[in-house]
Amino acid sequence: MRRRPSDPVARRLRNFVLLTIFAVAVPSLLLTGFGLIAIDNERAAAMRRIEDLYKPVLGKLADRLNAWLSALPQTSTAALDDLAAFARREIPAPGERFTKFATEAGAVACFVVGTNGRVLYPRPEPPLPTWQGYLPDSFSAGQQLEFAERDPSAAVVKYRAALSELTKDDPARCPVLNALARALVRAGRRQDALATLDELISACPKHVDHSGYNLAVGARLRRLALLRGKDETRFAKEIEALAALLGPGLPTLRASSEQTGFAAARAIELLGDETGRVQPMAVETLDAISHQAELLSALPGLAPGQARLLTVRAGGRRRLVLARVGPELTGCLLLPAGRQHGPEAALDQMGLSGSLQACLTSSEEQCEDGAGILAAAEYLKATDLAWKLNLFLKDSGSIDALAESRTRIYFWALLLAVVTLVLGIGRTLQVMIREARLTRLKTDFVSSVSHELRTPLTSIRMFTQTLLLGRTRNEAEARDCLETIDRESERLTRLVERILDFSRMEAGRKAFHFKPEDVKELVDQALAACGPMLEAGGFEVTRSLAAELPAVELDRDAMVEVLINLLSNAVKYSPDRHSIEVFARRVDDVLELGVSDRGIGIERALHKRIFEKFYRVDNRLASEVAGSGMGLSLVHYIIQAHNGQITVDSSPGRGSTFTIRLPLKNAKHEEEE
Ligand code: ADP
Repeated sequence: MRRRPSDPVARRLRNFVLLTIFAVAVPSLLLTGFGLIAIDNERAAAMRRIEDLYKPVLGKLADRLNAWLSALPQTSTAALDDLAAFARREIPAPGERFTKFATEAGAVACFVVGTNGRVLYPRPEPPLPTWQGYLPDSFSAGQQLEFAERDPSAAVVKYRAALSELTKDDPARCPVLNALARALVRAGRRQDALATLDELISACPKHVDHSGYNLAVGARLRRLALLRGKDETRFAKEIEALAALLGPGLPTLRASSEQTGFAAARAIELLGDETGRVQPMAVETLDAISHQAELLSALPGLAPGQARLLTVRAGGRRRLVLARVGPELTGCLLLPAGRQHGPEAALDQMGLSGSLQACLTSSEEQCEDGAGILAAAEYLKATDLAWKLNLFLKDSGSIDALAESRTRIYFWALLLAVVTLVLGIGRTLQVMIREARLTRLKTDFVSSVSHELRTPLTSIRMFTQTLLLGRTRNEAEARDCLETIDRESERLTRLVERILDFSRMEAGRKAFHFKPEDVKELVDQALAACGPMLEAGGFEVTRSLAAELPAVELDRDAMVEVLINLLSNAVKYSPDRHSIEVFARRVDDVLELGVSDRGIGIERALHKRIFEKFYRVDNRLASEVAGSGMGLSLVHYIIQAHNGQITVDSSPGRGSTFTIRLPLKNAKHEEEE
């Protein structure tokens, strides 16, 4: 079977493969696309249904919040008055009204600014003097080691020596403890540093360093840096403690406002991306403090009068501020979550906090982490700028549950459609490839059969003409001619017979007549039929037939045909070593009958294919030898009809052995009878 480059069958096959790939890929892609859109639509529809369901809840919640926020300027008047009075030092403390308002409204930073622009509240404490008194010599020795010689470990020893010289309540301990903690941090002794910082915080709440910064606040910041990424719980607690310590309006305020802003900014810096892990209130407070100046300057020129709710940008964020211009600028920055009246609290009062979560955000911000699926959102009317009330479903599973059943149907239908399509087209492709291959084999078959027919016909014609023209010199020559004509016609008849047999086999019309037959006779008949061919080729034939062979139930003519085919193949494909063995033996209940040659052999990969219709091995010798590719498929067909098997054991250059295995059950059965 030679492949020609412009083989039309191959071309058709290639076109078909391309078409099939296109036919699978495009519909599958379209189908998948539509399926995904359908699934997405289903989810969107479920979202809409959820939105419809929760719109009324959101409406009620928004009404409550609007009412609370609108009333806030009015209800906060007394509290802001108290704060202003405290800032003017008219009363000793801002009082309960202010504390109540600040807690309920979620005020994180409050302020009072005088007409001259001075910040009256948070009121800066007068700076405390730096320790000027006696300090032991080992303290300055430690400083020398720490800064000039850059040896913090040696400095630690000196500072400890200085400490041992001071009594427990000596205020000089504060700067020494501060230096010791710093040197310990530098020396990488984290645990010792933490312990010293703890001592410093409790022993020196009011002391300042030479730049005027509060030692305790500095110690807390240092402790924060040491805890970061090491002890999350203590880190979070420390942030809250710091927020409480620095928080304006809180009685624990110990540092001046300048220091407060610095410390808060440093704390926020230390928090980095970890703000989510710490109480939002604490973060918000620190953030607000660190941006206090920015916040104040961002307040627009308010008209004097009642307090107003404003949205002010500070620290890169939009913030909700309640502010009023009276004799002073008074106001508070509010946490949008409002402790007692905010969205969460309102939800709680409505008994819905179990399944829902609400938060108020400026239009450009997201709610805190942990919120579920957004069910509905609405802008609040009570504020000047877009503040959005978001309502979340805590359990995102509910929306999935709504969409899930239909989505699942779509998904499986989609999968089924795609799989069926792919399988169907794969199967069609398989059949088409087989058909195309067969077509090509048939084309080759027609040309090889024509060739096989022409050879004997040419001889017959030539010798007939020799006789007709009286070109023979004597009777013996004439007889030779006639014998050749006879032999060639017989060859022709056999060929035609084989073609007819083949077509009967194709149509399933070939009939078999089974009778118990003697295997030896069968072999002899086949060898006799091939006699001239074997003689002409000078073949040495060995008959290895077991002595005791039972009679076998078979169609004699068909089985002789099988052996003739195998023998003639052995002759055809043995160009050099002309030796053939025919064998028959009994192995248990099976008769093994076969032909072995020492010819060109067959590659292992082709052992199955040679039994296919019209298949011929594509090598030089096989293509030089006349053949049609029908022989072995006919053999295979006949053996199958006998409930038998045929196998080949062969490798190139070594020769081939074709073995037929026929069950002897029938024979045995007959013998028993
Ligand atoms: P063909 O008419 O071509 O001989 P067959 O169906 O009898 O057709 O054989 C199919 C192919 O199997 C042959 O073309 C040949 O290449 C290979 N073949 C069959 N018998 C032998 C053998 N004894 N030795 C080597 N090759 C063989």
